Amino acid sequence: MKITNKDIPTATLHAEPVSNFIRNIINEDIRIGKWGGRVETRFPPEPNGYLHIGHAKSICLNFGLASEYQGVCHLRFDDTNPEKEGKEYVDSICDSVRWLGFEWGENLHYSSDYFDKLYQFSVYLINQGKAYVDSLSGEEIRTLRGTLTRAGTNSPYRGRSIDENLDLFRRMKAGEFSDGAHVLRAKIDMASPNMNLRDPIIYRIRRADHHRTGDEWCIYPMYDYTHCISDAIENITHSVCTLEFEDHRPLYDWILTQLKDKISCHPQQIEFARLNLTHTVMSKRILIELVEGGFVEGWDDPRLPTLAGLRRRGYTPFSIRLFSERIGVSKSDSWIGIDVLENCLREDLNVRAQRRIAVLNPLKLVIVNYPDHYEEECLVPNHPQKPEKGNRTLLLTKTIYIERDDFMEIPSKGYFRLAPGIEVRLRYAYIIKCEKVIKNANNEIEEIHCSYDPSSKSGTAGSKARRVKGNIHWLSSKYALKSEVRLFDHLFLDARPDISSRNYKRLLNMNSKKIISAYIEPFLDKAQPEESFQFERNGYFVADKKDMRPGRAVFNRTTTLKDSRGKFKV
Ligand code: ATP
Ligand code: MG
Repeated sequence: MKITNKDIPTATLHAEPVSNFIRNIINEDIRIGKWGGRVETRFPPEPNGYLHIGHAKSICLNFGLASEYQGVCHLRFDDTNPEKEGKEYVDSICDSVRWLGFEWGENLHYSSDYFDKLYQFSVYLINQGKAYVDSLSGEEIRTLRGTLTRAGTNSPYRGRSIDENLDLFRRMKAGEFSDGAHVLRAKIDMASPNMNLRDPIIYRIRRADHHRTGDEWCIYPMYDYTHCISDAIENITHSVCTLEFEDHRPLYDWILTQLKDKISCHPQQIEFARLNLTHTVMSKRILIELVEGGFVEGWDDPRLPTLAGLRRRGYTPFSIRLFSERIGVSKSDSWIGIDVLENCLREDLNVRAQRRIAVLNPLKLVIVNYPDHYEEECLVPNHPQKPEKGNRTLLLTKTIYIERDDFMEIPSKGYFRLAPGIEVRLRYAYIIKCEKVIKNANNEIEEIHCSYDPSSKSGTAGSKARRVKGNIHWLSSKYALKSEVRLFDHLFLDARPDISSRNYKRLLNMNSKKIISAYIEPFLDKAQPEESFQFERNGYFVADKKDMRPGRAVFNRTTTLKDSRGKFKV
């Protein structure tokens, strides 16, 4: 069972949309006919990293709203920082959005598509006396900007004539000046209580090759200037972004107001709280450091909150969309427990994933009164709640493996599994009783000898007459296959890791990955990469996307069955 986009029952996600402040705004806009009933949103990543679960919240929100209101959602790369951006990131972002089950159709855009227009609009602003070329250094600009309690000071270049500004700006574009020699600034108000309105820089000189426009430009527009204009050019109606842009909204509106004779569309910026997830980090800068510093194994390391990592871990697109819907949107920052995400996944996999048997930490068990060389078929359901998924057979033989955990020499109180003299059921097979414990020279348990009750086979009348408390899984030692199994724990032990500290790497959980050699049932070695299963009693596992191949079975534990942290309970 490979889970693809086609399996995502979107209808169930939006069967009854929960009201939230963004839906309320859109409903009101539709009622008053503000956009002629149109809903057009966008997801605007900067191609400077891989997407993470926080971005998924924004993707689900923007694409979700568009589909709910029969609108469209654009995928737009905000690519104005050529040094940090690249095609690898563009490709991975497209891949992740598609994986989540969203399509942008013809609406794939790049801010770099608008470089000409953005330049022309700046010329227009200069002509309107609304922008000027400043020749102070970056440091001087920062100093004159003032503070939250002290107004800024006008730059000595603020009074340049329109002609001089036009000339300098043209020559900036022509490459006559070195990086940092001049910038173009909006002329707003150096005394504004909102720092973003203190003549923000809208263009800077940067001799850097751009992954799409090459060396065509040596000046690049700033994010705040580019973003609102890109939205307007694309006729976006609702520009949904995270809360840190709330203070930038007056600038968003100022720029579009100045350009109203040039672009008629003036989208509404709406902010919502970003997602913070416990035991992990959402900062792109830190994710890059973890990847490049070798603290994890690439962007798709199953411990990372990147969509590529979650996918490799075995997360399904549906579970991530369910999570996004369930956490909702609000105006106040908060942390969501990673268990909320894991529970969405369990809910999904519980329905979808077929059951299989694996023994993660094997202990040999010999059924002493079972005939030598005898093999017996045991019928095992593929899904306990879905008989239509059919059954398969497992062969029982005299020697089997059970989990080491399922035996205790001196059972503690409430332990109902195997112990000397105690009876348990081998799932789908017989009741056995522990007769003898065999130890090695180091006094470690090497194997267990049991007897079985031939009248107790599961599904027979004899079985119904016998009741035992423990019910453990097993695999025939003759037919079990070896598999590499990777177990994961949280990347950070602290629920809310303090990444502001330069020493945040000390907070990394050094034991977040463990590789074991386990036994799996026959044919599991034929599982397709990315195929998910529930290994009975052990959790949900996925065949590794990259390393699973004929002759080499590799499974990742996606999550445990219950909320017991990702611990290495094997
Ligand atoms: P940076 O801008 O620092 O590189 P970023 O995480 O904001 O990092 P963007 O590529 O700008 O990355 O993000 C694209 C979109 O995803 C933005 O609209 C942003 O608001 C949204 N987004 C980013 N992080 C989160 C988050 N944790 N929760 C919700 N939305 C997020
Ligand atoms: Mg950003």
